Amino acid sequence: MEIKVLKDILDANKQIAARNRQWLDSEGVLAVNLMSSPGAGKTSLILATIKQLKGKIKIGVIEGDVSSSLDAETVGKEGVPVVQINTGGECHLDANMVSNALSNMPLPDVELLFIENVGNLICPASFALGEHKKVLISSLPEGDDKPFKYPLMFDIADVVVINKIDLLPYLKFDTDAFSRAIKGINKKVKIFPISCATGQGVQEWTSWLLNQMSRR
Ligand code: MG
Ligand code: ZN
Repeated sequence: MEIKVLKDILDANKQIAARNRQWLDSEGVLAVNLMSSPGAGKTSLILATIKQLKGKIKIGVIEGDVSSSLDAETVGKEGVPVVQINTGGECHLDANMVSNALSNMPLPDVELLFIENVGNLICPASFALGEHKKVLISSLPEGDDKPFKYPLMFDIADVVVINKIDLLPYLKFDTDAFSRAIKGINKKVKIFPISCATGQGVQEWTSWLLNQMSRR
């Protein structure tokens, strides 16, 4: 019974996600769903990206949080349009929440839309939002065992950003073993080692983004 209910919820979500996708396509917007555990650097990656691409492309941000608008305020200071979603307890964004946020986003002024999901490595993997690309951020302090603990998340990702690589000298983290584990789950995934703090590797990430946009 419970499985049937969950299937119905996910089916309904899929339909709304498909509508969101059509909407984004009609406006010429590339949407990227950013997922990670809390504190891995979703907001930091958005800020680092805005810093590099400001003036080149028009960026918009949907901020998903259980409560507060702290991240939205931080991102808003960069002068990009931001819409906050407070899920009121839900531990993931769903397509309906994103649909409401899209109504409040000036889409004609947006070419690249970041959707910052709620910090959580489990259910965001199951809820499509209408995004074109799914990006998982995994940071060094979380440890290199995450692909084994949350394989679905790594399986559905188009990109894995390994953040906080500036901490490598201080942590026991085997980047090669980590990348191998990811590739063992998902052969097609792109991996970008990055430090949002120092800017290392950010260029490769933004080049990938620009390349995705030029293909549309
Ligand atoms: Mg954040
Ligand atoms: Zn959830």
